Amino acid sequence: MMIKQNESKLKAHKAMWVVFSRGKLLIQAQSQRIPVAYFNEIPFLHRYAEEVHQLPPLNDGATLENPVFVVDLGAEHVEQPGWERVPLRQLLVTEQDIAFSVIGRAWQYIHFLRTHQYCGQCGAKTERVEWEMAVQCHRCQHRSYPRVSPCIIVSIHDNKRLLLAKGVRHREANMYSTLAGFVESGESLEEAVHREVFEEVGVRVKNLRYFHSQPWPFPHSLMVGFIAEYDSGTIQCQENEIDDAQWFDVDALPNTPPSVSIAGQLIAETVSLIRDK
Ligand SMILES: [Zn+2]
Repeated sequence: MMIKQNESKLKAHKAMWVVFSRGKLLIQAQSQRIPVAYFNEIPFLHRYAEEVHQLPPLNDGATLENPVFVVDLGAEHVEQPGWERVPLRQLLVTEQDIAFSVIGRAWQYIHFLRTHQYCGQCGAKTERVEWEMAVQCHRCQHRSYPRVSPCIIVSIHDNKRLLLAKGVRHREANMYSTLAGFVESGESLEEAVHREVFEEVGVRVKNLRYFHSQPWPFPHSLMVGFIAEYDSGTIQCQENEIDDAQWFDVDALPNTPPSVSIAGQLIAETVSLIRDK
């Protein structure tokens, strides 16, 4: 649900402003923070007052001091002195407290609205439902909700070693990470783990243990984390997906993802499991 705000209500509150311009966020230059300000303090906002929606807080017990307002400038390019556009991923690292519950969620909503302007069933224009996060077709009544795509992510260990892989997309960063992949229709999470691991690196795993999950807004994944033990097979990298995969000793790990990501957390958890043995 996102609630449209009238202008007088907008001006009354100091708010957190999540402003998207194409795939990036508009923030004050050098701040690395989502701006918290009054409506009138952000110079370009008056042109978009009609486009402002409030993001309701998640029911997760955490309370934010200020309401969160979301604005989508779409493809418009705002040139405002003192302001800059930064990638979403960058702010997820600098704003860890609100990374997924505010920034990631706001982006998933905006992405949903951008990609559901027309009904998937009859092609008519959709309209926003104001009391829940959905769009509805007024010709055939088909209603759509933001998509969530489950993805498994798994850390594999064998005695004192971890199996980590470098995806073709991470070749330049020279970063080794856990294996991950989308769950297919009709598949359980566990089946997805066994299939992905075998497809990507050619080994079999056993004794899966659930770790935890993390929403990942690129654009609407839900990463479901597992720790698995090696069972059998030798590493064989999947062409076009995996650049390299190796067993690494816990005391000689390569460059791995940051701890804001579930991949980084899975690796840290597996390392401490191995060390506690
Ligand atoms: Zn329709």
